[in-house]
Order: sequence, then structure tokens, then C-alpha cells
Amino acid sequence: MIKLRPFKLLSAIAILMITCSMLFAQQATNNSAVLFTNANVFDGQSEKLAEGMSVLVEGNKITKIAKSITPPEGATVIDAKRKTLTPGFIGAHEHLIGQMPFQDAMFMDTRYMGYVGAWTVGVYLKNGFTTVRDMGGNTFSLKMAIDRGYIDGPRIYSSGALITQTGGHADHRTMGNSPQLAGGQWDNLVLWGDCAIADGVPEVLKATREQMRMGASQIKIANAGGIAEGDPLDIVEWTAEEVQACTQAATDWGTYVTSHTYTKEGVDRAIKNGVKCIEHGNLLDEETLLYMKEHDIWLSPQVMVFKNEIKGLNEEQKKKHDEVTEGQEKLFDIVKKIGYKKLAFGTDIVTDPKTLVRMNEEFVWRTNWFTPAEILRQATSGNAELMALSGKRNPYPGKLGVIDEGAYADILLIDGNPLKDIKILTDAEKNIVLIMKDGVIYKNTVK
Ligand SMILES: [Zn+2]
Repeated sequence: MIKLRPFKLLSAIAILMITCSMLFAQQATNNSAVLFTNANVFDGQSEKLAEGMSVLVEGNKITKIAKSITPPEGATVIDAKRKTLTPGFIGAHEHLIGQMPFQDAMFMDTRYMGYVGAWTVGVYLKNGFTTVRDMGGNTFSLKMAIDRGYIDGPRIYSSGALITQTGGHADHRTMGNSPQLAGGQWDNLVLWGDCAIADGVPEVLKATREQMRMGASQIKIANAGGIAEGDPLDIVEWTAEEVQACTQAATDWGTYVTSHTYTKEGVDRAIKNGVKCIEHGNLLDEETLLYMKEHDIWLSPQVMVFKNEIKGLNEEQKKKHDEVTEGQEKLFDIVKKIGYKKLAFGTDIVTDPKTLVRMNEEFVWRTNWFTPAEILRQATSGNAELMALSGKRNPYPGKLGVIDEGAYADILLIDGNPLKDIKILTDAEKNIVLIMKDGVIYKNTVK
């Protein structure tokens, strides 16, 4: 069992990186079998629990599910005592870099960003997230450190830098910055590979391929305005040719592009030019959603982040925030009406560590429109389908987000039944009593 607090681990990394490396790697890969007995299983799909089941984990996979299984020799047996056994959660729109006040993100150094990133991934794991799709940031080395066993954290689907145009969603320069054409410097987030600014087809191709070179599993762009940034909400960013260049480059690498876009105009530009997933989409209408449904395009919305007051917004930004929050009410009405299914689960919490630790409230906010079973499906087998869109660039190409034979052993034990009372997930420390990722147990308070 590995139980390391991120801060403890950080100092361990600083002092003992070399001597510890072998030990961590061993702990992360040298698993014997674990047999869960007497568990009520939510398999990631069904609306009902399969009661009193046994689930056998060997190595990093689930190898057998049955009413009764004889434990293999040397196996650890865990009596679940009718607790709910679910797949680990998957977050589709998360930010592992930048969980700090925005000023820190702009002016601290990359090491500080990395240390806070190491804390952030620990928060995700403690809340039951065994996989996250990062939506913009230089997370490549963070992912590597987790995969190699140095840091406890979820599987990461890295997008690398968020790519936009000059003056677009990822352009964080201030008025004090000289224009690029006059030799002006980029801001730190661009210099560190968390954001990229590209104009015209050659630059878009280069920026996209830079992320692929680093190991991105998908590409994240913003082709319309935002809220907390300077760009107006109503603008469409990138021409059709620029969007197409990006999606072509991603397709050539065997993967896809997802785009931050709130408005119908932005989404239409994106999906008509090869984008396969829309982040937010709050101001969409029925016509565009029907097109998306017909063409199997994903919608990745977030609720909690709009219901919370975002601190530090100016009047203009507050107006934009209110507009998209209102729009989302209508959006979900249309989603329900047309039976739109490719709906992801994610939080989009960024620059806000205090809200981040409350991330599981997202499950509860969604009950305004969806049943607990629908929400849990979004956060497990549904999101797993979205992760698989990474195709040839999928870093974890096995079965994810389900309790099934042959699936990755990403498993939670929950005290209570979240299909009946999803609120229990908001107290993860108490109610998520066991967390296993890739066959390794990271937390176990089962008596
Ligand atoms: Zn985001």
C-alpha cells in the first residue's frame, strides 16, 4: 500500500530523488492479487448495483467478477461489507497546472508551478479521480512523474499548451507588453509551454505539432471568447483555415481536437472544421446540438464552476459570467429534450485551490438535470469513451471507467450508495474508503 502525502513526497523528491526512485517504481508495479468480496458493484453503466459480488484484481487489471471467487495464493482479501464498489472517476476538463491565484501563475517560477501541480494531482486522487484529461498546461513531466511512481496522482491525458490566436483566450499579456511585431516578449505561461499563441496556418501547424512532439494525447484550442480573460465573449477566434490546419495536424497524429467555446458561432466554426469535442458550450442552441448529436461530437460542460462566485472578476467579466450561467439552464433543457448522450463530466476549476478541494460538489449540482446513475455514468464509462477518442495517442489504451473483466483496476469503495444519495461523494475523506489505481491501493480505511 502506498500512502504518501504530496508535501511529504515533495521534500522526498527534492532530497532523495535518486535513491528513492527504485523503491517507488517497485511499489507502483509489484502488486500481488487483491480480492474484494461482498461488494455491491456499480459497473459504470447499469442503473442498479450488482449485490454481494467478488472482484479479483491481478496486476493492474480486473481479471474476474463473480458471486464467489476462491482467492489465489497470497492474495489480499478485502471484505467490502456491502459497500459500493465503483470504477475510479474520470474528470474530462481539469487543470492540473495553475491551482493558485492567477498572479502567482504569472510570476512564480516553473518549479513552484510543478510543486503545486504535485499537490493538485493528490487532491484529485483523494476525491476518487483516477484519470483526468488536462485542459491546458505543461503537464507532460507531471504525468511522467506519476506514471513512474514518484508522485501519487491520477492517469493524465495531457493536452499540453492551450493554443489560441493573438488576443485570444490564452493570450495573457498586459498592455505593458510591446507588440510581437515590435519584438515584444511573450508572457510566462507561453514561455513555459502552458499556453501557445499561433496565427495563420503555418504557426497553427507548428504549435499543434509542438504539443504532439511533447506527448499530447489530444489538442486543446479556444476558438471563441472567454470570461475571466480579456477576450470578449462574442468573438470567434481563428479562421476556418486555421481551425482546419489544427484538426488536420491532430488527425495526422491519430488524435483529435477539443475547443473551448461558449457561443453558437464559435462552436459552428469549430465543428464544421473537424473539432470533435466542445468545452463549455453554454450558449448553444438546438440546431447546433442536433448537428453535434448527428456527428457524434462530444459536449464537455461544467456546472459547479458557474454556480460559485468567481472572485476577482471585474464588472465586464461578471456580466459574461452571468450570461453563460443563464445560458447553461437552457442548454441542459435542450440536451434532455433531444436525448443528447455524449456529455462529459468535468469541473474546470482553475486558479482556485479552495474550490478545488470541493470538486465533488459537481456531482450534486448535476442532479438539477440528471439522475445519480446518469451522472455516475458520465464520470466513469461515458468519460472513458471520450478518453478513447485519443486513438493512437491514447496513453492508457485498455478498458477504462468500468468494472469489467480485463479493465484497468481503477476501483473505489464507497461507504453508502451514491446511486441513491450522490451527496455522500462530497465527503470523500470519510466516505470513499478505498482508492485503487492501476491495481495499487492508495487509500484503505476499510475496517
Ligand atoms: Zn478550463
